[in-house]
Amino acid sequence: MQLYGITGHPLGHSLSPVLHNWALQQAGITGAYLAWPLPAGRMPDLVNAVRTLHIQGVSVTIPHKEAVMPLVDSLTARARALGAVNTLYWDQDVLCGDNTDVEGFVTPLRGRVFTGALVLGAGGAARAALAGLRELNLPAVAVCNHNRERAQKLADEFEVRCVDWEERGAYEADLLINATPLGMRGTHEGRNPLPPEAFTRGHVNTRLVYDLIYTPLTTRFLAEAEAAGWQTQEGLAMFIAQAQAQFRLWTGREFSEAEARTLLLRELGRRG
Ligand code: NAP
Repeated sequence: MQLYGITGHPLGHSLSPVLHNWALQQAGITGAYLAWPLPAGRMPDLVNAVRTLHIQGVSVTIPHKEAVMPLVDSLTARARALGAVNTLYWDQDVLCGDNTDVEGFVTPLRGRVFTGALVLGAGGAARAALAGLRELNLPAVAVCNHNRERAQKLADEFEVRCVDWEERGAYEADLLINATPLGMRGTHEGRNPLPPEAFTRGHVNTRLVYDLIYTPLTTRFLAEAEAAGWQTQEGLAMFIAQAQAQFRLWTGREFSEAEARTLLLRELGRRG
């Protein structure tokens, strides 16, 4: 019996247990993926449990992504570059920390060409997006946050431009990325991170709006972009791709993106 799980606080209605338990079953692996909600400060206990019980793999989410870093034996280059771990896995008897959010972010963008990108937000998802854009070698990247100080810090770290929040609608980019919760189900639903004039810019053939949110699947941001003739990308693809990368690290196996999407859409529909 192989044991896996997710830790964070609050864990809310994470889709990870549904996805990974299905993937284990698909791969014919006898195992379970559980939810371990733990408040800040409890990572030493979790890592002790991983070592003692030889738990095969853990998804790590807010608020533990940085706190877990000094507790593992080895960090991948991506985790080090990002300063955050979202996956624990074993390489023989070495407990490793990796970050698959970058891979998840980049996957839907592979094979496409952009001249410039604007990242809205300066939290963990924005950080993964900036690391991903660096891997894609985009010529011009900018970051923008309602709290300018946080955006400036990220801009300095990733050596990209910092755009004032009030100026974001006028910034010229053909890849617009929402890494804020604006538009997400709950208190921010129906809110748009960019004013409509932003959609009058960009190169017609390459322009894409990428919303990292996946509840709802089609945010107002995506709907307005599509109506203005932009291509759109929702956040479910990133969520699935980061989970595929975790599953590969834990089991060496793959699962189908299309089948995972069908499963998650059904689950999201069931939850309403
Ligand atoms: P986070 O670390 O809390 O960062 C959120 C960012 O949004 C911060 O820069 C915050 O600014 C800004 N923000 C918050 N409220 C805002 C408001 N009312 N107006 C303007 N900006 C606001 O969160 P995160 O983990 O980066 O997640 C951000 C979004 O990405 C969420 O919607 C999440 O669902 C999504 N996400 C998706 C995936 C995926 O796999 N698809 C993975 C991770 C995250 P301040 O902190 O300066 O206030």
